[in-house]
Amino acid sequence: MAPGVERSFTAASTIEEALAARRQGASVLAGGTWMMRDPRRGVDLPEAVVALHRIPALSKVEVEPDHVVIGAAVTHAALGRALRGSAGFEGLVAAAEGAANPGIRRVATVGGNLCALDFAAADLAPALLVCEATVELQTFEGPRLLGISDFLKDRHALLTEAIVTRIHLRRDLIASAHIRLPLRQAGDYPVAIVSLAVDRNKRCRIAVGSVEPVARRWTALEQAMAAGPASALDPQRVAELALEHNDFQGRDGKEADGWYRRQVLPPLVKRGVAALLSTEGVAWL
Ligand SMILES: Cc1cc2nc3c(=O)[nH]c(=O)nc-3n(C[C@H](O)[C@H](O)[C@H](O)COP(=O)(O)OP(=O)(O)OC[C@H]3O[C@@H](n4cnc5c(N)ncnc54)[C@H](O)[C@@H]3O)c2cc1C
Repeated sequence: MAPGVERSFTAASTIEEALAARRQGASVLAGGTWMMRDPRRGVDLPEAVVALHRIPALSKVEVEPDHVVIGAAVTHAALGRALRGSAGFEGLVAAAEGAANPGIRRVATVGGNLCALDFAAADLAPALLVCEATVELQTFEGPRLLGISDFLKDRHALLTEAIVTRIHLRRDLIASAHIRLPLRQAGDYPVAIVSLAVDRNKRCRIAVGSVEPVARRWTALEQAMAAGPASALDPQRVAELALEHNDFQGRDGKEADGWYRRQVLPPLVKRGVAALLSTEGVAWL
């Protein structure tokens, strides 16, 4: 910490209080597991922060028959507990329970995972992309709902003033899976992540994280699979399609080169389809 810098901390009890602090220039502090490493990335810690953990509405997961609402301050561990055993959310549970380590998962939040700018390896991003999640934000102009793809693309601009408050999910998936490739030399973060899901119309959704700077759906592969028969949900066949339709530009990073991240995608997809097939939901396919 630079000598003489005064730091301020506010724990908001309501979203309005949190927004008021944002208006005065405070940054959101969630679990702090990303922010605490800012100095290592050459970024100064904010002088004022507002914590969200005392806002009850942001710390709960509501599981309803047709939808789920996840508060932004819900931790990875709590998310895993809340959705474990819910058909269709196997991938999201695997992402929440497989990221980082138990200590981090107890404090790191869903909002923090989605709002850590320039963090390409966020596990929840691809897992929520295949759920086609909607992100709820509070801005100075009022509440706003945004599809997760648009949120991820525009978050640099959005987060200059907004607070992510909740994530909304439909319960329209019959099965999902989340496959990550960590490398020993990569330290903490997976070098490539593939999330897959099958919806009630037997359409397969696939998203990739950590390969490009921002996680995204693998539309070319989804379309190639949709053009084939239902039996296309065969691990070897999908891996071949993944090789043919690999349109990713791998990002170079200290833990892996771009070409490597791109190249590991077909085998990860193969593992993902095998995981999907082992869930109860797709047993009938
Ligand atoms: C050892 C270690 C291993 C890790 N491994 C993984 C891993 O395997 N997979 C993975 O995905 N991540 C990993 N992480 C990265 C990351 O810390 C977590 O993903 C985490 O989710 C960040 O959440 P947080 O609550 O701690 O966020 P914070 O550090 O509190 O915040 C992160 C950023 O988001 C902003 N922010 C937070 N919440 C909101 C909100 N509601 N609205 C607006 N802005 C907000 C903050 O202002 C800050 O800029 C790891 C971190 C560590 C330290």
